[in-house]
Amino acid sequence: MKITNIKCRDLRGTMDYPGTFWEERLARPVDIYPEHRAAGPEYLESLGNGKYLMRAIFVEVETDAGITGLSGPVGRGVAHAILSEFAGLLLDQDPLAVELLWDVMYRSAVHGRKGSSMMAISALDCALWDIRGKWANAPVYRLLGGPTRDSIPAYASMLGFSVEPEAAAERAREYAAKGYRAQKWFFRAGPGDGPAGVERNVALVRAVREAIGPDDDLMLDCWMSWDLRYAQIMAPRLAPYNPRWIEEPALPDKADIVAQIRRAVPFPVANGEHEYTRWGFRQLLEIGAQDVLQPDIYWAGGISETVKIATLASTYDVTVIPHGHSTHATAHLSAALPPNLCFIQEYLVKWNAIHQFFLKHKLEPENGVIALPTAPGLGLEIDEAVVEEETVLD
Ligand SMILES: [Mg+2]
Repeated sequence: MKITNIKCRDLRGTMDYPGTFWEERLARPVDIYPEHRAAGPEYLESLGNGKYLMRAIFVEVETDAGITGLSGPVGRGVAHAILSEFAGLLLDQDPLAVELLWDVMYRSAVHGRKGSSMMAISALDCALWDIRGKWANAPVYRLLGGPTRDSIPAYASMLGFSVEPEAAAERAREYAAKGYRAQKWFFRAGPGDGPAGVERNVALVRAVREAIGPDDDLMLDCWMSWDLRYAQIMAPRLAPYNPRWIEEPALPDKADIVAQIRRAVPFPVANGEHEYTRWGFRQLLEIGAQDVLQPDIYWAGGISETVKIATLASTYDVTVIPHGHSTHATAHLSAALPPNLCFIQEYLVKWNAIHQFFLKHKLEPENGVIALPTAPGLGLEIDEAVVEEETVLD
C-alpha cells in the first residue's frame, strides 16, 4: 500500500443553535492588558436567527488500496503546514510504517518541534492510524493493545457557559442530572482583575460546588493565566471546595513555576495541555510540575507520540488525561491505557458541538460515560449532508 494523495477539505455548513452559543470565555494570559481583557468570546460567526456559520478543515490521506485515512478538524495554519511541509514527504510511502513516517516528519521539521508544525504531524499521524485500523478492520484501540475496558467515564468540560454564579449553578445541576460525576469549570478572572476578580472566581467555584454536592469531582482550569503570587492568593480560597485539580496555572514556558505552585497548593495540579512530544513532557515529569498530565493527541505529536508520553508518565505515577480536542482519538487512546493511568476522559461540551458538527457518527457521552466505538479505524466519517460548501486544499 502506498500513499497517493493528501488533501485538506475546508467545509462550511450552518449550525442551528437557539440563543447565544458562547456565553463566556476563559481567562487568557494576554488578559493582563486591559484592551485584551475587555474582549468577549469570539470563536464563532453568528448568521442571525439562531444560526451559526460552521467551518472546519479535515485531513484526508488517500492510498492506492482504496483506503482513505481521515483526521481533524485542524486549524488553517496546521492545514498549510500539512500541505507545504509534510505532504511531499509522505507521498508514495507505506502508510502502515507510522513510526518511520513520524520520525521522517520530525527530523525534517527542525523548526517545528512545537506549534503548528507538530500539530500538523499530529493530525497526519492520526490519519495514518485511521488507515491502519481500516486496513486491519479493527478499531484503533485494538491495534494499540486495548481495550482495557468497554467504556470510559467522561467529565463535562464547561468552557463557554456563563460563569455568573446563579447561571453556572443551574448549568452544573443540569449536567450532573445528565449523569456526569465530574465537571470542569474555567476561571474568567486572573491577575489583571484585582481583588474583585478573586472574589468572582471564588463565587463561581462556591456556586458550582454547592450545585453538584460534595461527592462529584470539580476541576478548575486557569488556562495558563495565573502566576505564582495569584496562585498563592487563590489556593486557600479554593481549598474549602475540594478541587479535583487546578489546571495550567502558569504559561507553558514557566514549568518550574508550575512545579512551585504544585508544592504550594493543597490540591493536585494538572498541566501539559500546551506541551509537545516526549521530550517536552519528559522535562515536565522530571521537574514534577504536575499530578495530571494532559497531552492533546492532535497537538503533542499524534497517537504514536502520546502513547510514548503516557508510557513515560506511568514511570512517574502521574495520571494521563489527554486534552479533549478530538473525542474519537482520545477515546481510542484512553481505551488502550490502564484505567488507573487514565481514569476519565475530557468532553468539552461546546467544542464538541463544533468539532463533531461535520461528523456522521458523533461520539458523545451517555449518562456521563463514553461507550467505545466499534467501527474500523478512528470511526470518523464526514456527514456529506451537512456540507453546504467545500474548498479542497492540496
Ligand atoms: Mg485546559
